[in-house]
Amino acid sequence: MATRTISIRNLNSNIEALHLTFQEMSTVIYGKSNYVIGNEKEQLFHRIQILEKQIRQKCHQRDCFPADLSDNAYRAYLWLAFLSQRQRFDQHLAFTHAFLERWRDLTNRSIMLKLYNNAFVFQCKPDKKTTQVSINEGFLLAESKDVQMLVNCSLHPTQKNLVPLRALSRANAYKHIMAQIWKHTPQSNLSTQGEIYNLQQLFDKINDEYFSGKLGQPRLRWSGREATRRLGYYHPDSDTITISCFLDQRSIPAYVTEYVLYHEMLHKKLGLKEVNSYRVAHTAQFKKLERKFAKATAAETFLKQIQQK
Ligand SMILES: [Zn+2]
Repeated sequence: MATRTISIRNLNSNIEALHLTFQEMSTVIYGKSNYVIGNEKEQLFHRIQILEKQIRQKCHQRDCFPADLSDNAYRAYLWLAFLSQRQRFDQHLAFTHAFLERWRDLTNRSIMLKLYNNAFVFQCKPDKKTTQVSINEGFLLAESKDVQMLVNCSLHPTQKNLVPLRALSRANAYKHIMAQIWKHTPQSNLSTQGEIYNLQQLFDKINDEYFSGKLGQPRLRWSGREATRRLGYYHPDSDTITISCFLDQRSIPAYVTEYVLYHEMLHKKLGLKEVNSYRVAHTAQFKKLERKFAKATAAETFLKQIQQK
């Protein structure tokens, strides 16, 4: 495997425990005195800050940064950093409370709510004994009527009900929160240096040759698995380009790896165009620019061969 990853012990279970505590706290909020609530809130806030700090320190000890961690650990880190801000923490608790209050007005079903910076906007599993609802942190500032809409979607996740939810995920308030969570953080060689190729060096070279050095720095990663179908992808929220570590081997010519990286860099530059509410990535403009790569034809031929194997 090309990448050396640092793992943070018990990170997933710590995040799960935090979700549960948020839910429990917002449930009892009216049943207890302000003093007790105040204390519990402080403890929770403190736990989040400590976890965030621990991850930073662990990375520092290894001469790297949180952006060098796996996608999941980096996601968790950014969530903790976001909630380490007092205002965001209070808003997170307020959303959880508002959501659960409305939920209980409408149903007796038990629920596990997670407000988190997932890769997806919304997920609901109503078939379980406890309904599992995952809502993207981007909805944090949802107004009262929109919280109601989200509760409605969680109770009845039909295609029709999900239409306003999708619209809300394209609104400015959502984008604003996403931009705050996924702000750019530094990265080291630890995750960009493969066995043969260094993604940062390849990025700089392509940026100079084809983008006049003007394309902003994304997070760069080798994938953990040697995928041969999906050789690269760009995730706009986290501004991450992932390249399959299958392309990090001596038998793959540099121009092939560069071509795949160039393709993903074009995605970063051009974004997604919306056509009849479908998002289109490979537009005519995209394809035209893709052809500008010096060895595009040779790279295409090479890639077809390995994908046919
Ligand atoms: Zn593409």
